[in-house]
Amino acid sequence: MDKKGTKEKTLLVLKPDAVERGLVGEIIQRVEKMGFKIVGAKFIRPSEDLGMKHYPDTDEWKKSVGARTIEDCEKYGIDLMANMGTTDPIEIGNLVKKWNVDYLCSGPVFALVLEGFNAVERLRSLVGNTVPTKASPGTIRGDFSLDSAILANMNGRAISNLVHASGTVEEAEYEIDLWFKDEELIG
Ligand code: GDP
Repeated sequence: MDKKGTKEKTLLVLKPDAVERGLVGEIIQRVEKMGFKIVGAKFIRPSEDLGMKHYPDTDEWKKSVGARTIEDCEKYGIDLMANMGTTDPIEIGNLVKKWNVDYLCSGPVFALVLEGFNAVERLRSLVGNTVPTKASPGTIRGDFSLDSAILANMNGRAISNLVHASGTVEEAEYEIDLWFKDEELIG
């Protein structure tokens, strides 16, 4: 039998709002029920250095966040310049990156390494859309948050979306290496 993908690993981080709201048990229960194997876990307060390394510093990511913000402002009739202080997509991306790091490092987080078949994709489907107002009911973000990008931008903060889950297999490899030492993984 082809065993490709059966032992795929991914990173799940329960962000400070999930911890503060007492959702750690509920979220881990969903993950376990879905069949993931927990092969690493730690409860830590991330340093700013970890936060900076965790969030990508690529122009590609910044441009896509910037473009999404511009689109949202047009859609909801919000003055982009008055709200973000800039109309440049990369500058908007820089702002959002800073908010992301501030958010991730604002309190304790629960980080987990999960293993299973197609783990990256399966976990992203359990977690739901980045923007909770766009996440389907039944997903973690869709069930426990009503936050939106527009609200977050207007308040100068990251979207409170409870969790982070690696977006691709490559991202998962980078992130697991960043958050965990080899000897901290069991399995
Ligand atoms: P993820 O992989 O689903 O977490 O999504 P991204 O990598 O695109 O974004 C990283 C994090 O940045 C998200 O989890 C949100 O907390 C935050 N974020 C993403 N887009 C925006 C945005 O347009 N505005 C604000 N304020 N925060 C955002």
